[in-house]
Amino acid sequence: MTAQLIDGTAIAQKVRNEVKEKVAKRIAEGKPQPGLATVLVGDRIDSATYVSMKQKACAELGMTSFHHPLPADVSQEELEDLIRKLNADPKVHGILVQLPLPAHLDEERVLSLISIEKDVDGFSPLNLGRLAQKGREPLFVPCTPYGCIYLLKEAGVQIAGANAVVLGRSNIVGMPAALLLIKENATVTVVHSKTKDIPAVLRNADIIIAAIGRAQMVRGDWIKPGAAVIDVGINGVPVLDANGNPVINEKTGKPKQKLVGDVNFEEAKEVAGFITPVPGGVGPMTIAMLMANTLRAAEIQDK
Ligand code: NDP
Repeated sequence: MTAQLIDGTAIAQKVRNEVKEKVAKRIAEGKPQPGLATVLVGDRIDSATYVSMKQKACAELGMTSFHHPLPADVSQEELEDLIRKLNADPKVHGILVQLPLPAHLDEERVLSLISIEKDVDGFSPLNLGRLAQKGREPLFVPCTPYGCIYLLKEAGVQIAGANAVVLGRSNIVGMPAALLLIKENATVTVVHSKTKDIPAVLRNADIIIAAIGRAQMVRGDWIKPGAAVIDVGINGVPVLDANGNPVINEKTGKPKQKLVGDVNFEEAKEVAGFITPVPGGVGPMTIAMLMANTLRAAEIQDK
């Protein structure tokens, strides 16, 4: 392996320790305990798991969390009423609406309603708009892209002047990651499903942020030697035995699955200068940055 591994688990723990210390300090000074409201609509197992991880992180770091589970058929009006109540509640410093919402709900309207000072996910059009404008600063940066940039900086990767390629242009990862890299003075190319000759675009990249949700799509020979590769992808693939057959889980009778990223790690680690693993790379950073944003929300609301 030639690449230096960027250990997201260790870096996320460092961020969490710093947040925990600052929370304890502010409570000792008599300031309010930071509070995060989580809103979960419906019973998607993945969304429920993410929300419970966020609540657990709050408890570990000395923050309060207020959970609001809503039925899958909740009306737009009821959801909007809840957001208005949370906006007005002084114990709630951050509001997180777990995405995706069921199709009958207007996600854009819901996110627009969250007060900019409590928008700890950074998805409100006001925060994203500020991220896109020169000379303006968002109050909060979306957690996953924020985590990607944090990892690059911790690894000592030079961002200013670098050619950066972001794979994916979603509102929650690709687009804000591209905007953040521009703010950090990289020259940025955004690759999406209509891009021609993706390998040729990537071969010019000093920094790659891959967020497309396509298992191991980025091959080793697409990567410029020495490049920094941040793999956001989380994809489940079957575990195969030595003959290439799926391994069956004895308990469930279903094929065993493992998580892989959007980058072929085994190939990429022989070419890249820096690389994040999956799992243990960007994933842990997302929750750590949410905790940092929630503390920041409490600090903003002290004023
Ligand atoms: P979306 O599905 O919202 O967006 C995927 C993007 O990738 C789109 O812009 C799409 O292009 C592009 N894309 C899809 N297929 C291709 C292709 N074959 N070639 C080029 N571009 C392609 O995904 P998300 O941004 O929500 O998530 C991306 C990945 O990151 C997923 O694996 C997800 O699980 C993971 N993730 C991880 C998080 C973490 O904490 N580590 C947090 C959030 C997401 P187009 O716009 O043209 O459709």
